[in-house]
Amino acid sequence: MNSDAHYCCSAGRMREGRHDFMARAGDEILVIKDVPALICDTCGEVEYTLDVSREIDAIMKEFFAGRLLAKPLAAGEIVFKPRW
Ligand SMILES: [Zn+2]
Repeated sequence: MNSDAHYCCSAGRMREGRHDFMARAGDEILVIKDVPALICDTCGEVEYTLDVSREIDAIMKEFFAGRLLAKPLAAGEIVFKPRW
């Protein structure tokens, strides 16, 4: 039995990689870079371990409480408006 094989969608396999996590609160956007994650090689679904998602929660709380100094990024916002 191969216990570390972890399958996602029908053919997808979760592989270890890095992912940029993004969260938004009002007009503030936080990007956490290089978060270790399991990423499906077929559909791109991202999964975090429990420890990693706890850490993400902690970072988000501190950031949105204004206690973390983040590097400013240029961001653009566009409302989805189909042209069909
Ligand atoms: Zn998948």
